[in-house]
Order: sequence, then structure tokens, then C-alpha cells
Amino acid sequence: MQEKTKLMIHSMYKLKINPKDIAHHTNTDLTDVLKVLKLSDRYFTDEKALKRRLNRGSFIITDEGVCKKCPRCNEFYPIDSEFWPKNSKASDQCSFICKACDQERKDSFKKKQQHTKSVNKKLENSLKILNSIFRIDLT
Ligand SMILES: [Zn+2]
Repeated sequence: MQEKTKLMIHSMYKLKINPKDIAHHTNTDLTDVLKVLKLSDRYFTDEKALKRRLNRGSFIITDEGVCKKCPRCNEFYPIDSEFWPKNSKASDQCSFICKACDQERKDSFKKKQQHTKSVNKKLENSLKILNSIFRIDLT
């Protein structure tokens, strides 16, 4: 890529022009624009996967760089450890669902466990009472 093009990409980005539009106006591939702006190399190294996801719509380009869609809450968040739990096996190093959803899922799992525990305890107590009344062992 010519230095002139790189300079143009940087200037356009400073003017808050969306990388997608920069790619269009400079006749450059979007992934190259992202590379020049260093928006894609922090977490995302697999260019083919990036392109595929952009086409599919699970990734979008905003002023904050590449954003990924969380399939649980349908929100887009920048590909950053601030928003996504880390997953070193994933091509974008990010977990499948966002941090907020991940926490929510963990909390609901904990609640379910607590509920089961309290039901079991109630059942145990009822059996004890029945036991003492009828003097039969139901446990
Ligand atoms: Zn989410």
C-alpha cells in the first residue's frame, strides 16, 4: 500500500469517518484499513475469519473499532477484554457471550443451585417431622 493511501486513511479516521467508509473512499480492502489503523491486530489476528464475520453481520465496524455481537443480549461490544471474557481458543480471543451475559448466566446457575439446596432441606425437614409423628423411617 502506498504511503499516501496510509496517510489518507489516518487523516480520514481522525475526522471520525467510519473505517467502512474509509475503505470505500480510498478503494482499499476493509481489513487493510483496519490493519493500517491498528484496529484489528490487538485481539484479532485471523483476517479471513474477520472478513467472514463482517459479511455475516456478527461483527461491525464502528468508531470504536471492530465490534462483536453477543448472541444472548444482541448487543455489539468492542472486541476488548473489558467487554468479553478471554478465550484463547477463539480466533478473536473472546468468549462466545459478553461479560455481562456471562456473569448473569453464572448468577442464575448459582441461584438454581441454591434453590435446589433449599428445596432439599425443606424436604428433609418434612421427612424428619413425619418420622417423629409416625415413627417410621422415610429417609
Ligand atoms: Zn450479552
